[in-house]
Amino acid sequence: MQPGRRVGTIFGIPLLIDSSWFIILALFTFSNAMTLQRGAGFDAPIAWVAGLILALALFGSVLLHELGHSLVAKFQGIKVNSITLFLFGGVAAIEEEPKTPGRAFQVAIAGPAVSLALFFILAAASQVLALPTAIANMVRDLAYLNGVLAIFNMIPGLPLDGGQVLRAAVWKITGSRIQGLRWAANAGKTLGWFAIFLGILLYVRSPQTGFSAVWLAVIGWFVMSQASSYSRISDLQAAIAHLTASAAMTRHFRVVDANITVDQFNTQYIQREGDDDMPAFYASSDGRYRGMVLLDDLQGLERSQWDVTVVHYIVHPLTDIPSIAETAPLQDVIEKLEAHNLRYITVLSPAEAVSGVIDRGDVVRAVAQQMKVPIPEGIIRKIKLDGSYPSGLPLEAIVKSMGTD
Ligand SMILES: [Zn+2]
Repeated sequence: MQPGRRVGTIFGIPLLIDSSWFIILALFTFSNAMTLQRGAGFDAPIAWVAGLILALALFGSVLLHELGHSLVAKFQGIKVNSITLFLFGGVAAIEEEPKTPGRAFQVAIAGPAVSLALFFILAAASQVLALPTAIANMVRDLAYLNGVLAIFNMIPGLPLDGGQVLRAAVWKITGSRIQGLRWAANAGKTLGWFAIFLGILLYVRSPQTGFSAVWLAVIGWFVMSQASSYSRISDLQAAIAHLTASAAMTRHFRVVDANITVDQFNTQYIQREGDDDMPAFYASSDGRYRGMVLLDDLQGLERSQWDVTVVHYIVHPLTDIPSIAETAPLQDVIEKLEAHNLRYITVLSPAEAVSGVIDRGDVVRAVAQQMKVPIPEGIIRKIKLDGSYPSGLPLEAIVKSMGTD
């Protein structure tokens, strides 16, 4: 979702409002005003003001619901990046997934729990307090809307809270975080399609349902498309979880004699390679790896020193550079590339020799092969040159939410 406009901060969490929120605010105000005019017999200007107040109070309730999720996440030590109000309500963006199914359940249930509490508090207030009838009715309406919010959100499919609860339950039962995500995403897709189908059916059978039927189909479409992206994430995570470093590594590296001079290294190797496809260089002597040669170090060395300095002198020993074992999970490769901000990482054999290198293009190629998704070599090449993943494939974030189970 596109970032909304920042309008404030609550408990240190930026509050954003997406432009689509104004559409739903206007629709709610209109619908409330019509109801108040016809039902409660309000005069037009008062009905519009009261309609707007009720709409804003509803979004205040949505905000409290999202704060419920956010504060429980914060309590677990998870950073909450933002709360956004948009066309379909609110969403709290948290930095990372909770560590255990129990904690995921707590974050998921906190929102509906707040809505349910608001339902009881407002319903009691409308009965107990000596409010003018019109205001008591509005408080009662707000109580009812909070009740609907609690129940609607507990429908068990992603991206709804009920879907998050289902995900935590499947995770708890199967012991697999990825299985939890897959089940909850599939439930969301099914529910989304069902709502689309039901909306269209209602509209066709009785067109007087009009807006409600269309709105049901639109919500169904939103749920279905969000659930589909969760589903893609679970497929990606499952593919990554299957792979080790050896599946992604290539032999795009050269081993040079550590006893040649830097000048010889430059003329014999660097000048012969294409600029955009430079392999990794390692130096060895007496049958042992002496370390990695970084091209930046050449630039740092006075030109006059190039023919009197041997490569051995400028190498970085393999024990000093970030590296990964052939048998390490691909998840670790992805995390290390980001953590050390590397273009590629060195893969070491059990005997501590260089067995290959992996860059982001190699990672994407291996994952695509595992998923049997053909990716053109041109795209892989672009990822290699850019040194970053395409925006539609945020592997760093996807891996971050895999946890360590
Ligand atoms: Zn929620």
